[in-house]
Amino acid sequence: MNNSIESKKILIVEDEPKLAQLLKDYLAQSGFVSCGLNNGLDVIPWVKQNDPDLILLDLMLPGKDGMEICRDLRRFSNVPIIMTTAKVEEIDRLLGLEMGADDYVCKPYSPREVIARVKAIFRRIESSKHGNGTEEVFLVNAERMEICFLGVLLDLTAVEFRLLATLIKQPGRLFSRDQLLDQIYEDNRIVTTRTVDSHIKNIRKKLSVISAEQDPIVSVYGVGYKLEV
Ligand code: CA
Repeated sequence: MNNSIESKKILIVEDEPKLAQLLKDYLAQSGFVSCGLNNGLDVIPWVKQNDPDLILLDLMLPGKDGMEICRDLRRFSNVPIIMTTAKVEEIDRLLGLEMGADDYVCKPYSPREVIARVKAIFRRIESSKHGNGTEEVFLVNAERMEICFLGVLLDLTAVEFRLLATLIKQPGRLFSRDQLLDQIYEDNRIVTTRTVDSHIKNIRKKLSVISAEQDPIVSVYGVGYKLEV
C-alpha cells in the first residue's frame, strides 16, 4: 500500500454514472486517484490486476451484487472496503452478515462524508502501523502466548489469549462474534457466538482486577466487539 494519501488509488464501484463522477471529482479534490467500474462482474479481475488501496462498493449492482463481491474479495485481499447502500435498515443487516467490509455509508450521502470516511480508514491504517498507544497499554508476546496489561501479566487461557490478541492487533476495528470465533478456534467444534461473550466477560474480569476504571473492550450492540485504548 502506498504511504501518502496523494498516491492512494481508490476503486469506485457504482452503476449510477452521475454519482460515480461526483465521487471521482471529490476524491480528486482531496488528492486521491480513482478508477470507476459499473458492473459487479468486473470487480474481482480488476482488483487482482490493479491492487487498489481502498474500494467504495455499491450494494446494488448489475452483474454481481456488492455483498457477493465483498465476500469474494475477502478470500484473497484485505483491501479496505466501504459499502454504500440506499437504505439505513440495510446497514444493520449488512453488519449482521459478516461480509468483512470496513465501513458502511448510507445513500443519499454527501460526498464530503464519504471522503471523511475514506480518510478515517487510511488514518486508522497509518496509526496501527506506527503505533497508537495500544502498545503502551498492552504488550503481546505471541510466542509465549502472554499479554501484559498496564505492565501486569494477565493470566489468560489459550482461547482468551487468542481473542484478546486479535482485538489488540487491530485496535478500533469492529469484529463480529463470528469473526472472533474464527480466530479463536482452530478446529470446527460446535460453539455458539455466545461463547465469545462469555470469554470476553472473563477477560474483562481479569482486566478489571488490574484497572477498574479502564475497560478497553467496547461492546457494539448486536454486532460484536472492538478494542479502544
Ligand atoms: Ca447501484
